[in-house]
Amino acid sequence: DVRENIIDEVEKQVAEWAEQQQEELDKYKAWAEYRRNFVGDISHELKTPIFNIQGYLHTLLDGALEDPNVNTTFLKKAAKNLERLHIIVEDLEAISRLESGELMLEIQSFDIHALAAEVFEDLEFKAKQRNITLEFKDGASQGFKVQADRESIRQVLTNLVSNSIKYGEENGRTRIGFYDMDGNILIEVADNGLGIPKKHLNHVFDRFYRVDKSRSRERGGSGLGLSIVKHIIEAHKQTINVRSTPGLGSTFGFTLKKGS
Ligand code: ADP
Repeated sequence: DVRENIIDEVEKQVAEWAEQQQEELDKYKAWAEYRRNFVGDISHELKTPIFNIQGYLHTLLDGALEDPNVNTTFLKKAAKNLERLHIIVEDLEAISRLESGELMLEIQSFDIHALAAEVFEDLEFKAKQRNITLEFKDGASQGFKVQADRESIRQVLTNLVSNSIKYGEENGRTRIGFYDMDGNILIEVADNGLGIPKKHLNHVFDRFYRVDKSRSRERGGSGLGLSIVKHIIEAHKQTINVRSTPGLGSTFGFTLKKGS
């Protein structure tokens, strides 16, 4: 009996150990696949601007440089593609920092309204180009304190407001609202732009996902903005979501711990 008990116990432990090993292996496989896809996605994204730059430079070298009708235009186009490469690489660096856990959150209590006002000021120039008004929802005044890493939340607001300008309606508006939800503050960034069809809603936070590829590329995005936003909010152990009605606009909402 004693022997049987021991054998049972050993068998149970071996089975448990095997199960743990399998779990580790599955995790590793998922991670390896994630890496593989990521590298594939990156090369794909880098290819287009590199290909464009090559095209413009070769055309210039092949004689277009002497043609005053096109030379400046081609150089400007090459520069624009180079700028896109730059944005992609910067965003990739941000993602890599976030994923490696290197980003140390410096949690402090601060006024989220004041931070949003700074972000509005920084983006005022871009908003003007599309005649979009940046405003606070009625009652969203000073005094909403949150506990979070101020600089990474600046990045979150910057990405959300930039998107609302890029995909918002010309002559439209971007409105930020704050809501007290015991323990947390909900921050909403709403635009009255083109909106996001339902079937895309679950994917907009995926890296390099774009609802309308040509429009997004033309407006200069890396396709990584929302995935950076999601990483930052998750690092704060909070949530972010989006609701949208095509033709009427989109609202991105995230929570942060209430500050004091
Ligand atoms: P991008 O650099 O392409 O803007 P993001 O990760 O910031 O990348 O956004 C992913 C996609 O989600 C965008 O390409 C766009 O199709 C869609 N999107 C993001 N924000 C909005 C918005 N406010 N209104 C409509 N579509 C949006």
